[in-house]
Amino acid sequence: MEHNDTIRSMTLQQKISYCTGADMWHTKAIPALGIDAIAVSDGPHGLRCQSAKADILGSDHTLPATCFPTAVTSGASWDESLLALEGEAITREAIAANVAVVLGPGCNIKRNPLAGRNFEYFSEDPLAAGSMAAAFIRGQQKTGVSSCLKHFAVNSQEYKRQNSDSIVDERALREIYLAPFELAVKSAHPGMIMCSYNKINGVFASDNHWLLTDVLRRDWGFSGAVVSDWGALNDRIAAFHAGCDLNMPGGAVYMEKAAAQAVTDGTLSESDIDACVSRILDAVDRAKKIPPKAEPVDFDAHHALSRRIAEAGAVLLKNDGILPLSLDGAMLFGHMAEETRYQGSGSSRILPKKIVHIRDAMPDLPYFACCDVLGDVTEEALNAAATQAKAARVAIAVAGLPEHFESEGFDREHMRMPDGHIRMIEAIAEANPNTVVVLLGGSPMELPWADKVRAILYMGLPGQAAGDAVKRLLTGEVNPSGKLTETWPMRYEDVPSKDTFGVRDPEYRESIYVGYRYYDKANIPVRYPFGYGLSYTQFAYSDLKIDGRTVTAKITNTGSAEGAEVVELYIAPPQDGIFRPAKELKGFARVTLSPGETKTVTFTLSDRSFAVWADGWKVPKGTYTVMLAASSADVRLSQAIEVDGVILPETNVPESYRTLASLPSRADWETLMGRSVPVRAELRKGEFTMNSSCLEMKDTSWVMRLQYRLTEHLVAKGFGGKRDLNNATYRMMLTCAADAPMRALVISGGGRLKEPFVRGLLKMANGHFFKGIFEMFKRA
Ligand code: BGC
Repeated sequence: MEHNDTIRSMTLQQKISYCTGADMWHTKAIPALGIDAIAVSDGPHGLRCQSAKADILGSDHTLPATCFPTAVTSGASWDESLLALEGEAITREAIAANVAVVLGPGCNIKRNPLAGRNFEYFSEDPLAAGSMAAAFIRGQQKTGVSSCLKHFAVNSQEYKRQNSDSIVDERALREIYLAPFELAVKSAHPGMIMCSYNKINGVFASDNHWLLTDVLRRDWGFSGAVVSDWGALNDRIAAFHAGCDLNMPGGAVYMEKAAAQAVTDGTLSESDIDACVSRILDAVDRAKKIPPKAEPVDFDAHHALSRRIAEAGAVLLKNDGILPLSLDGAMLFGHMAEETRYQGSGSSRILPKKIVHIRDAMPDLPYFACCDVLGDVTEEALNAAATQAKAARVAIAVAGLPEHFESEGFDREHMRMPDGHIRMIEAIAEANPNTVVVLLGGSPMELPWADKVRAILYMGLPGQAAGDAVKRLLTGEVNPSGKLTETWPMRYEDVPSKDTFGVRDPEYRESIYVGYRYYDKANIPVRYPFGYGLSYTQFAYSDLKIDGRTVTAKITNTGSAEGAEVVELYIAPPQDGIFRPAKELKGFARVTLSPGETKTVTFTLSDRSFAVWADGWKVPKGTYTVMLAASSADVRLSQAIEVDGVILPETNVPESYRTLASLPSRADWETLMGRSVPVRAELRKGEFTMNSSCLEMKDTSWVMRLQYRLTEHLVAKGFGGKRDLNNATYRMMLTCAADAPMRALVISGGGRLKEPFVRGLLKMANGHFFKGIFEMFKRA
């Protein structure tokens, strides 16, 4: 082990304490041993560097930084070199702020369109998500700053995020949910990884030896440090053993005595603690190698980069030829044109250096807001919009998901846009046949009005240069080239996880059939398929050649504008034997072509391109079809190949998994899991534990009702005393605080809330008032 001498000179208590941070954003310094502190900061699409005093999610005390497009947009560019540039730019800003580790990127799988943090993640597909994350990390770490890949793992919903149990079968785990992390870890070597809040098959990620040691370190060779998500540490003893090195935020001494006692009792090995200390010291050493800031950050260049990414990640969903257009005689509608939604809410929310709203970029266009910031409209406003739209040559309506619809901390309630936005678009489209919609939002929406407008440009959450990007795309100064990294279902009822998402313990009954893997095989029509996006030019695919594991083809720009095409390689596996999707993405390439130009794209396949997880990666023998496609529903070239491999033994997997003629039932899923999965009972008064939350206990405990009111009051204080559930940040903070497990209150309290005090509260909630009082006065 590295750092042997240092570790030998530390007392047990010192070592245990070192594995908890000093405050919200720093590790501890031990000057006597020459150990410096290092600073960590969010986040995935720009630096959110706060002073140590700041609260966990508040945006006060935050340094202004470049706000890049969030992953929903940057991912849709499928442009690994751009993602690397974004990662690098963020870490350049980090160096200027003395930050050694940037908390991002996130590469969780978008399992369900309603997940509140989908905007922060890249894709529903593991290869796409993992490749983008890897590119981003490579760029970040070029500067010497470490990335912290998050949230490991199976953290695909916000509801009960600090206490839910993601129950998932081994194949879905390995092939879908762990796969993007595996790809990013193996190919880009992030310095840190953040374990998630939730349990995975009954064990919290922070306590999970299988996840953090067997899989992450032994199987994948990860050599960096594991940090808990903020307040995610469940049991310090189990976490030491599991390999969860750093407990954040710091300041508290949660379970430190218990950990020391466990070493004395022999139930925890001191060498497990030493290993954690050593890995944190590695991170501190890496930070020493970061070259000092040489020149000031070029914020103008970062703004320009932010615009380029927004342009490359914008997806043209519909265009009957009206785009590109001249802005002469055009009129702009929708409050979001004026207050453009350009980033998401939560820990990734940053204070932008500057912001160009859509209206700012087109100041000469007449403008009518029509709806308000919440997306509400009045009859009067709708009539006025219709009258004005009638007089315009072209009507550009800006709409989508307002901030209070999606955020870290809570999931969306439905897949619709605000009624007001729908009514606004319909009123404008009825009045003006030349209506174009610019859509903003972090995840798919139902678009019942799609047939009524001539073009739809989806920007995702496009960052601080949003307005300029929109203008340049609409007018054809740049050609849209983004493609969706997630399916847009027709309606929420079509989503395979619709019944098992957003519940306390989500059952991943659909197994490997996430996104297009499901819609494709189950033949469910979708609004826009995975991998879809239009351009102002056209591309022809030809000359598919497969030579061993190398696949090549020619792509020609047959239109009249320069453009970029994302070429997707899918493999359709044999459908006999083990159950499999109809096809899966196994490669992609983005090529930029002038009119008339042809380029050759090359893909290299590996065993993994054909493999399934069956107690290890195995390639089933059989006939596979290699497809090159413009989207998952638009295959342009294909060729069958024979692949040698193993014949996997028949398993008694229910027919529903083979055919998807119907969604697998709970009983089918239990058969797949190979065990019965009892539903976790709700705890009642008398049974509450340190994992229970105030929200869960308040109906039966007046102490918790009081605590809830106090929490509401304290959170509202940060918002001028306003308890406004339409404010995404307020709602998120209230949910996170009130639904936090009691243990997390100790940790996130940064030392202000002592463990005995919280345990005392818990005793009271369990009906033992006086025992609770007694507990509260014990020494921490
Ligand atoms: C989020 C993380 C974030 C951390 C620190 C947590 O609530 O889940 O993504 O990095 O806070 O802000």
